[in-house]
Amino acid sequence: MTELMKTAAENLTARGFEVYTLTTAAQAKEKALSLIQPGWSIGVGGSMTIRQLGLLEVLEGAGHSVWWHWTSPEEKPIVWDNARKADAYLASANAVTRDGQLVNIDGTGNRVASLIHGPSMVLQVVGSQKIVEGGLTAAIARIKREACPPNASRLKLNTPCALTGHCNEAQCGDDCMCRAITVVSRPLRAQRNVVILVEEEIGY
Ligand code: SF4
Repeated sequence: MTELMKTAAENLTARGFEVYTLTTAAQAKEKALSLIQPGWSIGVGGSMTIRQLGLLEVLEGAGHSVWWHWTSPEEKPIVWDNARKADAYLASANAVTRDGQLVNIDGTGNRVASLIHGPSMVLQVVGSQKIVEGGLTAAIARIKREACPPNASRLKLNTPCALTGHCNEAQCGDDCMCRAITVVSRPLRAQRNVVILVEEEIGY
């Protein structure tokens, strides 16, 4: 484990998060599944990390109700509402600062809303490449440099980052996916907040 990952994990723990540090994505998947109780409903944010882990197939196979607009046939607002009320919400973080803060950017807001209010447990699986050496400025820069361009491209958005690979906020119009930024610096009251840091790169 790198010194940066070790320090971030220590700082997350000091802030009150329930932290696990693991080596591989396969270990992260096993840990996440071990924390989910039988019968729980599950909400999922738009997360490549969760998709790549293959958690959804296992959870649905085990009979959990899974609310994820990428796979659920219902109208998106209904899915978002049920995800926000789920027993557990699964996502990644777009960035983690060295001092142990979780940073996310969202265009619709359903993901960041569910991360800070609603589900009893929020579980975020974060590849080590998302841990930044600096603070919030470095975290936001990382998101706009590494996460937004591939996401905007995947979603076929008409944004500068999708077209050029680089952020140009001044020229970002209706398709802008950077409309809300959340910084969670401690677990929200009455919420169990789990962070699984994984050495293996996963998501983006
Ligand atoms: S502000 Fe616009 S161009 Fe910049 S990263 Fe966000 S979506 Fe992309």
